Amino acid sequence: MKKFNLLTSGIMLVFITFIIPPQRGFAQSAIPKPEEHFGFVPGSDYMLFSYEQLIGYLEKLDKASPMLKLVENGQSPMGRIMYIAFISSEENIHNLDRLREINKELALNPDLTESEQDEYIKDGKVFFLATLSMHSTEVAPSQALPLIAYQLITSDDPLIKKYLDDVVYMAVPNHNPDGMDFVVENYNKYKGTQYEGASLPRVYHKYIGHDNNRDFVTLSQEDTKAIARIYNLDWFPQVMIEKHQMGSTNIRYFVPPSTDPIAENIDAELWTWTGIFGTNMLRDLTSAGISGVGQKTIFDDYWPGSTGTCMWKNVIGMLTEAASVKDASPVYIEPNELGAGKGLSEYEKSINFPLPWPGGWWRLGDIVRLEIESTLSTIKTSSLLKDDILKYRNDVCKREVEKGKTETPYYYVVPAEQADQSELIALVELMKEQGINTFQLAENYTLEGINLKAGDIVYPLAQPFRSFVKEVMEKQDFPVRHFTPGGEIMRPYDVTSWSLPLHRGLKSHEIKTRDTAFEAKLEPLTDIYNPLKDNYKLPAIFSVTSNGSFKAAFIAMQNGLKVSRLNQETKIDGRTYGKGSFVIQGDNVDLLNSIAKESLTESGFIEEPGKLELSAVTMPRIALVETYFHDMDAGWTRYLFDTYKLPYTVLHPDEFEKTDFEKNYDIVIFPGTGKNYLLNGKPGSEDNPSMSNYHPDYQKGMDKKGRAKLMLFVNSGGKVISWGQSTDLFAGMLEITIDKEKQEFMLPFSNAADQARKNGLLVPGSLVRMKLKQGHPLTLGMPEEVGVFYRGNPLFNTRVPLFDMDRRVIGAFAEKEILMSGYCEKEELLSEKPAMIWLKKGKGELILYSFNPQFRASTPATYKLLFNALFPILD
Ligand SMILES: [Zn+2]
Repeated sequence: MKKFNLLTSGIMLVFITFIIPPQRGFAQSAIPKPEEHFGFVPGSDYMLFSYEQLIGYLEKLDKASPMLKLVENGQSPMGRIMYIAFISSEENIHNLDRLREINKELALNPDLTESEQDEYIKDGKVFFLATLSMHSTEVAPSQALPLIAYQLITSDDPLIKKYLDDVVYMAVPNHNPDGMDFVVENYNKYKGTQYEGASLPRVYHKYIGHDNNRDFVTLSQEDTKAIARIYNLDWFPQVMIEKHQMGSTNIRYFVPPSTDPIAENIDAELWTWTGIFGTNMLRDLTSAGISGVGQKTIFDDYWPGSTGTCMWKNVIGMLTEAASVKDASPVYIEPNELGAGKGLSEYEKSINFPLPWPGGWWRLGDIVRLEIESTLSTIKTSSLLKDDILKYRNDVCKREVEKGKTETPYYYVVPAEQADQSELIALVELMKEQGINTFQLAENYTLEGINLKAGDIVYPLAQPFRSFVKEVMEKQDFPVRHFTPGGEIMRPYDVTSWSLPLHRGLKSHEIKTRDTAFEAKLEPLTDIYNPLKDNYKLPAIFSVTSNGSFKAAFIAMQNGLKVSRLNQETKIDGRTYGKGSFVIQGDNVDLLNSIAKESLTESGFIEEPGKLELSAVTMPRIALVETYFHDMDAGWTRYLFDTYKLPYTVLHPDEFEKTDFEKNYDIVIFPGTGKNYLLNGKPGSEDNPSMSNYHPDYQKGMDKKGRAKLMLFVNSGGKVISWGQSTDLFAGMLEITIDKEKQEFMLPFSNAADQARKNGLLVPGSLVRMKLKQGHPLTLGMPEEVGVFYRGNPLFNTRVPLFDMDRRVIGAFAEKEILMSGYCEKEELLSEKPAMIWLKKGKGELILYSFNPQFRASTPATYKLLFNALFPILD
């Protein structure tokens, strides 16, 4: 491993190569074989190595061979160092800095002359980035890397040598090192026992598990940031493949291209390149006698939300997916168990699946072979078409910039004045991290009748990553395509909305007129965007409309400052602060300064706090419920709370019975997990449970006893917050026993999602319009309507309550024009239905959301609906 200095100039390296000739004559015997390092041939049945063992081997290769260079690339969320292994000819490895400069010029310079372009194409190399095993149970891609690396650096085959003259293979040895170690350790724990292959009883990541492939627009996690930097800011590879595995009973290997629908902002020619690479893989694997390879099936590219977001940055971005075994244990597949998916209606010989796999034993070694062959094929295609690929990279850059000057829209403007300043600042920094050129308006200017202000943020579309800017700044409009004319609709594989301004609750303007005088008033914003003043004074007031103000309050409360909320709207220094704004008192100005910086929110100074009507608030004691079943939504909630400095205790459902809720907690939070997991520790429904592959120690829920205990907590004054599927836990007949007297009751709401689905409602994950009750403690700081991230279940009804219960509808879906971004069938079934409700039982209360207020940390527009719920509501 060599630490690569990103600032080292290319000229310096070229100079060094002159005075110190590349070392030659490495004895091949010095290069250790994988089995000498690991003690087994990678891909052997039942054998897996850990992340540290993998890096240990690559470090040995780095020392032993001039053709491999291991470079540090950020850190995982739990602090493991991440790497890129560069494999290429000795000369290319020596010239990486110079080659990277060429990559950058081709990727970002639209003004290259024909001769400059020719020069760069001649000198340049194709950089092929492969990110391995981001999903930790999909072990084979990382397990295959030692074999691929060894073969590439020791091969005497003149063809391979020629390929490596043309191509720099950049392997991220593992995209998710924390998860890899969790999974390998868990597999070894149960190996050889009855429960071999049992699932890891937690997410395989610090926070988000499998959802790590849904984080590349938001860039919330450290590993996501590290990987995205590679193509956004650092290396500009032309070709990228993320390496996955899928279930065991579909085709053996999915290669590009994907099936319809496709993301429409992506350059047309780019899709043809994914076809070329994929078809060459299909051909090379078939030619090598490998059966079961297919393309244009299962996976669509409408939402290339993973590393595949690089397609919006002109990278030829692709995906492969191999059929899985049980971690490293072989599986036997009967032919009747084999099935097909979208784009391949039957598991039969087909134009996109010419050589079906017949069934039988399927082993880790089979997948490893697929990984080796497909990687070699990609290197070969990159070499054969090197000049065309490099030319394409600069042509598409020129084309995108030209489109930005000739096609509408021309600019997105995000006003500097926003209700939520913290989200504006976060958006500006995110777009820079995405490699987007950002500008600020130097003086006031009127465009299309809109009075824009000096300091407003402007994203001109005339930039190399234009398609990304357009994609994330506009609202999503799902392209409806059919399998046959007028026939069945091709439904989306994944969610359908990711518009940054809408998801963050920010105002923005789409400008459809080009104005060169306006362009002349734009100044590049390259420094950190910080519109906040530096010196704060106590007592300070933070506006309730900013998410950051809640963060300020959470930090202040835990550090001994007095925090209160305004009881009514108040004007201070000419600025209006809404009801619920936070007043922070005390004398620690240094602490206030650090809080203000973290909150990304401008605070005001209050001269006479005694004149304000305030209610003091304190930090509630929060239990956050997380199941053992790869509970990603709970993980995202932990992430959100850690980010906002909110303390909590994780509680597993099987711990309910022994928990004294009343003594230890004020609030119990249920993220969006299925009812049967929470109640019984099983997938499926209560009436129709199915079997899972978790060890019996973990197949446990709260049971009816645990739920009764929870309801007793509510009855005596506790608070429950629940969203998504977990709200089913509170529908139907419930019971508690007080003084040996059994009490049965039904809370005054029900879930009508099943009926709505039968009537045709389909919401795959879209932003839908919700109208909010104004002036309620749960909606402080919120606008009258907001987009909520909704997936069609639950769909609430309320009813007139009995006895000691009550209900209020806090938010309801709009009457019409309900869909804001994404896709929805039969949206009228949502019209005016409750979307967020408050329930009372005894002395306690429940707040239920049909949507995820914190969906994948990508919906800051609705965070306040969750944060407000942590404060007193009843009084
Ligand atoms: Zn995967």
